[in-house]
Amino acid sequence: MTTAPANKEIFNLKILLIGNSSVGKSSLLLRFADETWLSEDESSATIGVDFRVHKMEVKGKRVKLSIWDTAGQERFRTITSSYYRGAQGIILVYDVSNRETFEALPRWFSELETYVSPSVIKILVGNKLDKEYSRAVTEEEGREFAKKMGTLFIEASAKTKVGVQQAFEDLVEKIIDTPSLWSTAHQQGATAGQNSNGAKIAMPGNNTKITLTAPAEAEDTGGCLC
Ligand code: GDP
Repeated sequence: MTTAPANKEIFNLKILLIGNSSVGKSSLLLRFADETWLSEDESSATIGVDFRVHKMEVKGKRVKLSIWDTAGQERFRTITSSYYRGAQGIILVYDVSNRETFEALPRWFSELETYVSPSVIKILVGNKLDKEYSRAVTEEEGREFAKKMGTLFIEASAKTKVGVQQAFEDLVEKIIDTPSLWSTAHQQGATAGQNSNGAKIAMPGNNTKITLTAPAEAEDTGGCLC
């Protein structure tokens, strides 16, 4: 029988961001973990965030999230399978002002079917809600699709902050409500600070960036193209 971690215990959860290039994955991560927003001009040069650690309290439980960004892998080919390993939660992002990114979602879902257990919690996030003037996907369509796929749903804007905190909280709450997920994480050691083989990796401090493309700085290769 599974027992809940004691109140003081920290839930270590691995969360992934996926979705087409330029939908705002890195921006959502920066907004949530660093409370920053880079303007459209700044972001083209600097975005390519890989990893953030963020602590929060959800439902009275202390949670330590390691949140992984694709860091542009999706531009070149499908994401490496190691990226998905040990994840308890997935944030699938599309851009409400770009229909193509919405239509690409079935492909992302079939990738998930291949690489993650069906019990992993998913939330569909329609980002760039601030671009109402050029909306190309209605909220209803997003919600319907999420319902069909059995995922949570929210529209958000990394630019204005709307919905960002909520997206992460909804996801984490549902993970906490699914004991088989975090107990599996405990067993596998697939949490922040360990790779899926249980080996220790160089851990960043809170909100510290690990550059996965520089092996000298991090021993873990999860999410790296190398
Ligand atoms: P990624 O490739 O999915 O990680 O996307 P990025 O985070 O690099 O963002 C791609 C572009 O979209 C950048 O120019 C961002 O400034 C912009 N962007 C991201 N989120 C938003 C948003 O919520 N609203 C608007 N208007 N632009 C956004």
